[in-house]
Amino acid sequence: MILSKNAIHIFCNIVILFVSMQLNEVNCRQNTDIKKMILLGEDTVFLRIYTKPGKNMVYAHVHENETASLEAGLKMIEKYGGKLVTLEHSSDSIKNRNIRFTYRKTTYQFDPNRIYTADDKVLKKSISVVAGSGKVDYIILKMVKRLAKQIWNEIKEYPLIVALHNNKNTPAECTNMWFFWNRMEPESYNITSYVKKNDQSSDSNKSCEEIYINPSVNNSEFFIVTQKADFDMFVRKKYSVVLQNANPVDDGSMSVFATGFGKRYINSEAKHGRVIEQEAMLELLLLE
Ligand SMILES: [Zn+2]
Repeated sequence: MILSKNAIHIFCNIVILFVSMQLNEVNCRQNTDIKKMILLGEDTVFLRIYTKPGKNMVYAHVHENETASLEAGLKMIEKYGGKLVTLEHSSDSIKNRNIRFTYRKTTYQFDPNRIYTADDKVLKKSISVVAGSGKVDYIILKMVKRLAKQIWNEIKEYPLIVALHNNKNTPAECTNMWFFWNRMEPESYNITSYVKKNDQSSDSNKSCEEIYINPSVNNSEFFIVTQKADFDMFVRKKYSVVLQNANPVDDGSMSVFATGFGKRYINSEAKHGRVIEQEAMLELLLLE
């Protein structure tokens, strides 16, 4: 009997689902840990979904290398319940921010937080060719769209979406590329990325309606929200926050996509490694 690739895919999904649920049945009757397999060219992305009865909310963790935010999110699930969706795609021990996959001898790469858009031009800009002579054509777009849809399907029904992210928080610096060639690296992403600087508007600045910065909070720790009530809540609690405007620049990010559906979306940003700080942020969010 010859099984099609699709049939094998479905069969593998069922086996993984069954095994994970059985394992969790033994460990804890309330928790579930499901792993869904999504084929991407010749590679695989796993959607890992943790659930525990409790809060009716979902945590979205799309950058595999941002381990502190994942750890903080899992602690919150354990404490208050809810759902957490994360991606696993690296085959080596090093976790990667971007997803790489190979299709017909060409390797492609994309940021898994730049693929949620109905605009093919935006999506095309998010995907780059790392090796090989293939192009980002409609077949590649279709594959990446399928992954984005499967991630979004796990999230979209919840009344509250909390995105978990970590940032580098490095200052602007001059790096030595060659013995006579230096390159100026800009300051990494932080809350001031939303402020208009030197008369120049960035995409982040163009998408920002209001901003509140508590000067005693480090610039790497802050929230991005899509609803004014959430902005006001964090201001009351004196925590740095950005209110995304009603017409943000479509960059394929989940926050902009969620805005299009009128979703209550809160992005929690903390510096890499700051698990305790991010946990405290999530506690602050939940204790409304
Ligand atoms: Zn991130």
